[in-house]
Amino acid sequence: MAVRALAHVNLAAIERNVKLLRRTVGPRTEVCAVVKADAYGHGAVAVSRAALGAGAGSLAVATANEAMELRAAGIDAPLLILGAISSEELPAAVASGGTIVVWDTRFVEELRVAALRAGRPLAVHVKLDTGLGRLGTRSLSEAIDVVQAVRAAAPVLALTGAMTHFATADGDLEFAAAQLQRFAPLVERLRALADGERLRFHAANSAGALRLPGARLDMVRAGIAIYGADPMNRDPAEHALEPALALRSYVAAVKQIAPGESTGYGRHFIADRQTHIATIPIGYGDGLPRALVNNCDVLIGGRRYPLRGMVSMDNITVDVGPSAAVAVGELVTLIGLDGPERQTAEQLAQRLGTISYEVLCLISRRVPRSYHRDGEPA
Ligand SMILES: *Cc1c(COP(=O)(O)O)cnc(C)c1O
Repeated sequence: MAVRALAHVNLAAIERNVKLLRRTVGPRTEVCAVVKADAYGHGAVAVSRAALGAGAGSLAVATANEAMELRAAGIDAPLLILGAISSEELPAAVASGGTIVVWDTRFVEELRVAALRAGRPLAVHVKLDTGLGRLGTRSLSEAIDVVQAVRAAAPVLALTGAMTHFATADGDLEFAAAQLQRFAPLVERLRALADGERLRFHAANSAGALRLPGARLDMVRAGIAIYGADPMNRDPAEHALEPALALRSYVAAVKQIAPGESTGYGRHFIADRQTHIATIPIGYGDGLPRALVNNCDVLIGGRRYPLRGMVSMDNITVDVGPSAAVAVGELVTLIGLDGPERQTAEQLAQRLGTISYEVLCLISRRVPRSYHRDGEPA
């Protein structure tokens, strides 16, 4: 095992998760695969290809640069850019041919000028803020003003859909349902206005798609679920989701320490017995937060061992017991399966007081991503 720290990404798991979502939402609802933030740390290009191959109808990213990265890789699927776009980013966003989300008439004008200059028509979706309190117009009438501005800019701009985004689809479903009710009048108004154009209405993220059937509409924007992580930060198996990413390293050294001796910066672990410490060459430079100090397990040889002491930039230390049951070179699993043992991104997230999304996004560029399909080369 030559690689010090490696993220194994099972594209077959991503394909199964996409297919599971497609079955869940039914044939009239498109699955849009959300691949922002480098596909939640999994690698946007490889994940996009796998998701499209499994029947995702479109992709979504957050930024213009993310859109350009996919285009540069030759991915020409329909693409939605979810985030706010600054003037500096506008030329790249327009050049990507992605659908752009609008909620501001001044931005619509900026977009019209940019699209005209680029000599290409642009599709836009209007966004209504129904309770997340982030992006989107606050009221229905403002949304209609934005829609009229888009229609006035035809044929340079074309309205092709409308969206909202849930604050609590992973928790309070009553609030999510109330948001959906606030979205309904916009859907009605636009259907009436649209005279035959086909508009696409969408509201649900992964949690909404799984838990709120009424929110599925024309399309669901599924991120975390396609990676096989649980939007509710529980066990992904509860929704038959299959984690796609395994984070692995190896045992670089094993040494005996005596009672009173310590490991790591700041001496956060002092042995109270004779034991063995294995040093694993993965640390916060690879995306393992320092906050895991004395509060994490790793899997070696199908067994759990506790992390002892501080997380350094490049290493962690693990107590492998008085009899040193592990050897230099053995595989170490931080996230993933090892024999009968399993550690999920959700479990790490719970120790850190965060969600699996953040744990996955933290895995840094220093960690190569290696792709396979159920163990076969991808
Ligand atoms: C990130 C994002 C999603 C995907 O959310 P998941 O919980 O990962 O499914 C959907 N919609 C918008 C607007 C987003 O920003």
